Amino acid sequence: LQVVTDVVCPFCGTLCDDIKIIKDGNRIIDTLNACAIGNEKFKSAQDGHRIMTPLERGDNSAEFTPVSYDYAIEKAAQILANAKRPLFYGWSSTSCEAQEVGNELAELCGGVTDNTASVCHGPSVIAIQTVGAPCCTLGEVKNRADLIIYWGCNPVHAHPRHMSRYSTYPRGFFTERGFKDRTVVVVDPRPTDTAKQAEYFVQVEQGKDYELLDALRTVIRGEDIPDVVAGIPKEKIKELGNLCKSKKFGLLFFGMGVTQTTGKHRNIDIAISFVADMNKYTKFNLIPMRGHYNVSGSGQVMSWQSGFPFAMDFSRGYPRYNPGETAANDILERHECDAALVIASDPGAHFPVSSMKYYAQIPTICIDPHYTPTTGVSKIVMPSTIVGVEEEGTAYRMDNVPIRCRKVVVAPEGILSDHEILERILERVKELKGKE
Ligand code: SF4
Repeated sequence: LQVVTDVVCPFCGTLCDDIKIIKDGNRIIDTLNACAIGNEKFKSAQDGHRIMTPLERGDNSAEFTPVSYDYAIEKAAQILANAKRPLFYGWSSTSCEAQEVGNELAELCGGVTDNTASVCHGPSVIAIQTVGAPCCTLGEVKNRADLIIYWGCNPVHAHPRHMSRYSTYPRGFFTERGFKDRTVVVVDPRPTDTAKQAEYFVQVEQGKDYELLDALRTVIRGEDIPDVVAGIPKEKIKELGNLCKSKKFGLLFFGMGVTQTTGKHRNIDIAISFVADMNKYTKFNLIPMRGHYNVSGSGQVMSWQSGFPFAMDFSRGYPRYNPGETAANDILERHECDAALVIASDPGAHFPVSSMKYYAQIPTICIDPHYTPTTGVSKIVMPSTIVGVEEEGTAYRMDNVPIRCRKVVVAPEGILSDHEILERILERVKELKGKE
């Protein structure tokens, strides 16, 4: 048996980089340090649910026929080169290197490219672009933070090692006693499993996060508020305000309970204003709890290539960005694309049925290591290797720290990487468009 150390888990935005993999030859036997989800991600490389050959779905049929990569790549290139406004969606579970090629392809085709932020932390990205955000790294959280607020997120289920590695339990340089040196607050409409581990649980009324943050800002300034705001008594809000002011280093982690409820990016606007206010009294930062392990990377790569972090439209020959009009689901719902390429995500499991019904009617390409609801309704399906398990690649953690994912085992014979598939499609589209 061989033990591979310092492996990075390519599942959630925590990007744990202390995983050990025990393998026998090319077979993963077990993982150490990974949570249950991370463990499954590594083992999914060798489960029976992998796609082992490119596939083509017949016209008006649910039947797939195995084809070669050469055939599938040629078909994909033809679809994209002939489309007027193709949609490119996903990107959040692949490497920055693949994302870079994909964005070039979207620009060449005059298409729209969007990542999964448009249905999760897009509102955070919009708010942060508008007013900026006081951020820090998870390392600083571990070493300094004595107040942790989880607002509208449930890391015990979605980011299982976040609390043990960075925020709540670890011993840090200025938090030598770990949990005993920190206070944890959870704000959520439900008493989640994360709330059970917190000292303070604030059960905010559903959709009233903006009102509660506004009330917190008001009491922090020493002004009066109504007796009850968002279902929380005035005294409890004052207590929370005083707690925040009394700490040396506070951290507000927030999730989709805030970004995808009433108010959306306005909730994040006011969360940022709350954090800015708190910096008059103490040190305070905020970090979005990013889901897919490299959704942050996709925003970074899109931004440095073309200026915008998601929902980017090249159809006028230059990058435009107008979430609500140019996000993937908007485009599909309004039938505004005539082809689509989906990679490293599964809109079939998350988008409205009406959007996916349209997706199933147009020429589509799906690149994924596994069978998913999206592969089931795509026209061309291409299997790919798993970044961080069978392929090296760069990913950005939720605090925007880039981390190099390792290759642990060799991929099944003949399976290409996302990067290689996209490069081959790009080269062929260049030839078809006469832009070599
Ligand atoms: Fe992987 Fe996230 Fe679990 Fe860490 S917390 S092991 S990155 S799934």
